[in-house]
Amino acid sequence: IVSVNNLHKSFGALEVLRGVNFDVEPGETVIFAGPSGSGKSTLLRCLNGLEKIQAGEIIVDGTSVHAPNTDLLDLRRRVGMVFQSFNLFPHLTIMENITMPLTKVLNKELDEAREIGQSLLKKVGIVDKVDVYPDNLSGGQQQRAAIARGLAMNPHVMLFDEPTSALDPELTGGILDVMDELSNSGMTMLVVTHEMGFARKAADRMIFMDGGVIVEEGAPSQLIDNPQNERTRQFMHQIS
Ligand code: ATP
Ligand code: MG
Repeated sequence: IVSVNNLHKSFGALEVLRGVNFDVEPGETVIFAGPSGSGKSTLLRCLNGLEKIQAGEIIVDGTSVHAPNTDLLDLRRRVGMVFQSFNLFPHLTIMENITMPLTKVLNKELDEAREIGQSLLKKVGIVDKVDVYPDNLSGGQQQRAAIARGLAMNPHVMLFDEPTSALDPELTGGILDVMDELSNSGMTMLVVTHEMGFARKAADRMIFMDGGVIVEEGAPSQLIDNPQNERTRQFMHQIS
């Protein structure tokens, strides 16, 4: 459902992705880990067309992302993204954050949009917060709302960029549980995270990046407990 071939991405003279290749099968959960600056966020942003690329091809859900006639809005309806900073609209309630794209982009009736919102907020465990504004929620609750909003479009693929790294440790587990359930429900997920407990539990595969290339990939337990590459070994040592 995702295929990345020889991806090269630069910002000016800085080459951030230097020939990245991987595939993701439908229903897989793949974790991306690697040092700061290794290109993980840039990679996710390339996948839903937020960044131009210099070479290579990315196919997501049957769409060649950087082909000249690709409808990126249509692509982003099928590819949900959750960021480190929750990116909710501050002037809209939690329910409105979810219903707005449904009514404006998918042209759903407000009643139907609210029903979808209600069931998603229930799923992520904040159904009591429908009429609250984002600023009045904890970080963990805001991230739950952001995940619900990402799911509202019924995406085929979900991208998560360090969804728990801005959260207090005691709020992290709840978000990871929501993501684990989503993974179990068959969602295709690409997740940048340093939460190795989550990787062990939820991930089918783990990809370790450094310096804009994939250095090692395999089963999470393999990369965490028995990395073959020296850079992977050092990294796992540092974060554990
Ligand atoms: P972290 O773990 O800190 O989030 P990362 O692996 O996500 O790191 P990226 O955010 O992808 O790393 O950044 C990779 C490199 O690209 C960094 O050197 C960064 O400074 C650079 N970079 C990212 N975005 C831009 C931009 N818009 N303009 C210029 N350089 C950028
Ligand atoms: Mg990043």
